[in-house]
Amino acid sequence: MYNQRTKIKALLSSEATHFQTTVMGWVRSFRNNQFIALNDGSTNNNLQVVVELGMLDESNLKRITIGACIRASGELLPSMGKGQKVELKASAIEILGDSDAETFPIQPKRHSLEFLRENAHLRFRTNTFGAVFRVRHALAFAIHQFFNSKGFVYMHTPVITGSDAEGAGEMFRVTTLPIDGSAPRNEDGSINFKSDFFGRSTNLTVSGQLEGELAAMAFSEIYTFGPTFRAENSNTPRHLAEFWMIEPEMAFYDLEDNANLAEEFIKYIIRYATEYCSEDLAFLAQRLEEEEKALPQEKRSGMGLLEKLDFVVKNHFERITYTQAIDILRESNHNKKKKFQYPIDQWGIDLQSEHERYLVEKHFQKPVILTNYPAKIKAFYMRLDENCPPDRQTVAAMDILAPGIGEIVGGSQREERMDHLLRRMREMHIPEKELWWYLDTRRFGSCVHSGFGLGFERLVQFVTGMNNIRDVIAFPRYPGNAEF
Ligand code: ATP
Ligand code: MN
Repeated sequence: MYNQRTKIKALLSSEATHFQTTVMGWVRSFRNNQFIALNDGSTNNNLQVVVELGMLDESNLKRITIGACIRASGELLPSMGKGQKVELKASAIEILGDSDAETFPIQPKRHSLEFLRENAHLRFRTNTFGAVFRVRHALAFAIHQFFNSKGFVYMHTPVITGSDAEGAGEMFRVTTLPIDGSAPRNEDGSINFKSDFFGRSTNLTVSGQLEGELAAMAFSEIYTFGPTFRAENSNTPRHLAEFWMIEPEMAFYDLEDNANLAEEFIKYIIRYATEYCSEDLAFLAQRLEEEEKALPQEKRSGMGLLEKLDFVVKNHFERITYTQAIDILRESNHNKKKKFQYPIDQWGIDLQSEHERYLVEKHFQKPVILTNYPAKIKAFYMRLDENCPPDRQTVAAMDILAPGIGEIVGGSQREERMDHLLRRMREMHIPEKELWWYLDTRRFGSCVHSGFGLGFERLVQFVTGMNNIRDVIAFPRYPGNAEF
């Protein structure tokens, strides 16, 4: 058996000392030919491995370089040195994998996040990315735990989809047809997909919602958690071309039930992270504080990361309608002084990220659930509100906006009434024939139901305080980049 080792996290928190143990990990630094800082990814904290003078010959000492992988055995002892409770007094050290210190890109100094993005294959070996990806893991786990404890069924909706009807975003085409111009064509010159792999045109999914709704009409409460793809050419710190989305879909929930669930859900997973990732979050809070010191006063967030998370968990999310939001924005000094790039002049416009940020960061200073948007700017499946003025038709939509991130959740009560749904589809030129299966749910046992989509990376951004979404997914895909 090869894997006979103790994880560094366990040793560092060990009450007992004076026992023999073995560790394996990667060298973070080597001081005075004597003190190795060893990390195995179980925690950001390194174990100090003490090499007795004369224990290794000159040539082996030289092989203990930053990035090298080693195995060390010895006795765990209370440490005399500052900064750690225990250390390993090595009796044997074996170099498992050498690392050329000259060419290893990660040096014991501060690297820019941009540099580390170009070295994403090695950035897990830094404190920042160690912390980010352990927190990401904990959040994913908490999500499953939350839904499991409520009896939701986890559905795996397809990644390759034949429907391009939803319109959530631009899609990536999936095809095995030749791209050299020799693909078969219809009489009108368009590509004939009958001879393509699936016998029809297919894409990567932008959302699992429509399929999720089908399952909710049997299990009553389901959720998806999987990759989604959008070929949108948006080079922003909040958009990826491949991201993970959580999409619960619930029968017998109206918009208010939906908002209640979303708020409970977000608070639950943040609380989980603060409880189980306290060390990593403390490190990330420190990192953010230092990063913010370099910013001008008005760009700083004012609240530390841990305070911000605590604040979100402890406070009610503000709930207002789109119409109320427009009134607040229109009357704001910011608008009157023409400080918005897109001035708020009329009811019905889509809110830009500057407006969302104003509401969340300046006006309310906490997460906001915005509901009842104009029907014209929302998807066909959202339920039409009753008793609206004719020129102000709204739908039961809800977006949750978070400080620093903007939209983190988009959801709605779904239109369960067949006649309304069909009318909306015709208005928005959604092909009924393609969505026959979706419409069947309204034919056979339709009911009040709701759901939402939460962008996982935006949540990870919020919890870790990382500014750029490309730094919270292992290998980000965005316009011009699919390295690794
Ligand atoms: P935005 O206006 O920010 O582009 P959206 O309206 O396109 O968002 P939805 O279609 O409602 O978003 O998707 C649900 C959730 O998925 C969003 O609330 C957001 O958290 C996340 N999301 C959407 N697009 C992206 C993207 N390109 N990269 C990462 N997360 C995304
Ligand atoms: Mn979008």
